[in-house]
Amino acid sequence: MSKVRILDEETISHIAAGEVVERAASVVKELVENAVDADARSIRIGISADKTGITRISVTDDGVGMDFDDALLAFRQHATSKISRPEDLDGITTLGFRGEALASIAAISKVTFTTKERGSASPEAARVVIHGGELISHAAVGAPEGTSIIIEALFYNTPARRKFQKSVPTELSHVYDMVERIALSNRHISFVLLYNGKERFQTFGTGSYPDVIAAVFGSSFSKELTPVSGSFGPVKIDGWITRPGSEMKTTQTRFYLAVNGRQVTSRQLQWAIREGYGTLLPKGMFPAAFLDITLDPREVDVNVHPTKREIRLSREREVMRSVQDAVYQALHEERVFSPAPGHKPSVCSRLTSFSLPSPAPAHDSVTTLPAEIVGEPVPAYSAKQVTGQAPLKQTEKQLRRTETGELPETDIFVPEVLGQIGDTYILAKNESGDLIVVDQHAAHERIMYDQLLARASSAESGQELIVPLPITLSKKEIAALPDLQEVLASAGYLLEPFGKDVWMVRSVPVVSSTLGDPEVIHAILEAALDGVGSTDEVLDRVLKTAACRAVVKGNTPLTIEQMQRLLRQLMATRSPYTCPHGRPTTVVLSKSRLAGMFLRT
Ligand code: ADP
Ligand code: MG
Repeated sequence: MSKVRILDEETISHIAAGEVVERAASVVKELVENAVDADARSIRIGISADKTGITRISVTDDGVGMDFDDALLAFRQHATSKISRPEDLDGITTLGFRGEALASIAAISKVTFTTKERGSASPEAARVVIHGGELISHAAVGAPEGTSIIIEALFYNTPARRKFQKSVPTELSHVYDMVERIALSNRHISFVLLYNGKERFQTFGTGSYPDVIAAVFGSSFSKELTPVSGSFGPVKIDGWITRPGSEMKTTQTRFYLAVNGRQVTSRQLQWAIREGYGTLLPKGMFPAAFLDITLDPREVDVNVHPTKREIRLSREREVMRSVQDAVYQALHEERVFSPAPGHKPSVCSRLTSFSLPSPAPAHDSVTTLPAEIVGEPVPAYSAKQVTGQAPLKQTEKQLRRTETGELPETDIFVPEVLGQIGDTYILAKNESGDLIVVDQHAAHERIMYDQLLARASSAESGQELIVPLPITLSKKEIAALPDLQEVLASAGYLLEPFGKDVWMVRSVPVVSSTLGDPEVIHAILEAALDGVGSTDEVLDRVLKTAACRAVVKGNTPLTIEQMQRLLRQLMATRSPYTCPHGRPTTVVLSKSRLAGMFLRT
């Protein structure tokens, strides 16, 4: 006897429902997305729960509604008004299109659906009641324009799925997350969410991103963000991301990415955002990102999974590049360092509230080096002599060498130094009474790196040594040097062959004569040879190593004056809050955080 049979309608609908409706939040998502697709201006979501779980979900909108017959038809599987031909799948502009949600939800719950078509002459609305896929009634009732749907007894006839529901708080948090995401990408619609009759969340449909972000995360959070906007290749990008120096998280839960209005999860796009931050992002940390990514709908395949959270992009690499560029540009534009529009400077933006005179300020500012540095024959400092010197005096010299002369004093906010701890950290305060802790090594490294970078490839990158310095090289170094000469010259190092395994160092980077130490040059060659890469990448490795070697180490006592100078220079760099390797230079313990620690309110 044949064992293969076609499944009956009810079983099919339960299988389909299993894919679409995983938990209460999936129901909320489908219903709210239907309201968005129906051109609603206001959407009201109600959730009720008791000890047993979520008991009732309602979604009411003022959208286009449906006529009497469509109200019933909408519950049939694969019934949709959003597409009609296979070609339509290639350019989806609505959130829904599969015609599955209402049928699936009605198969596993008790649904009361009331709808009245916008602008219809008839005074009556349609009401459809369905329990577990079975039609209970289809009748005319009185109701306002728009649609209202009530879901009760979710999963009552699918005990397996019901068992997998988590505690009420967990399920609720998924519901909130879902509504917040949809509200963030539909800012012209006002959303209200009530839990057991109490209002939990509201947006006002003003269209403004900061308004919705403030509604979700509180108004102080939006001050930590900086805008991103513009067209990049095939993509238009708009949104907000964490400004450097603000609080980062170790998880990526605060990525809110909408592609053509649809909230999506995409590892590729998350990666692109982090790449855009580059060294501004401390290792293992994640920024918050709210981005609207708009591109030709034909480039996006949303028909990957029934929940449509995953998408495929036909020009994925280009889109990733665009996102990366947008983030990079936003972070490196001057406005990063000015307070977000419409907000009073917060703790962190106070720290960042200075403006830079020009896109590449260091070029001009470094040229006026103190006479004592220019006049000093560099090879006088051998590695041994450096370590042999009294730390304070040597440090003073190192710091002086990074003195940048004319600094744009006017707008720079420089925290006031209070002291040093552990010979490693600088303690300072700002005008708002926040405590600022600076890692002196990381800070100095940032200063050095910026100065090296600003001078790299310019005629002023190196200072010629009065007495050229011979350096004995390994076989590997000698083999590689001819290829590296150009990159090293960009960094300020002029090296020429002299004997069998000896080369002459004719000039070293101008910012620090410590960089003439043979030990440092070996380290730099090692970094240059460490892996492949474009010329720029090799140069970057060289500069990072040079910066690291030229700076004040931890465990060095500094005077107040030295520390103050270091902070002033740090604040004048383009990215004061991370060292070139991405570690933080600065930690801010805000006044309010201190108050919290002492349980003051
Ligand atoms: P889809 O959204 O994929 O089209 P659904 O099962 O979610 O499928 O909805 C079926 C149809 O019912 C939609 O195409 C739409 O025409 C109609 N509909 C559902 N919800 C609403 C609503 N809130 N307002 C107006 N029409 C709706
Ligand atoms: Mg739908």
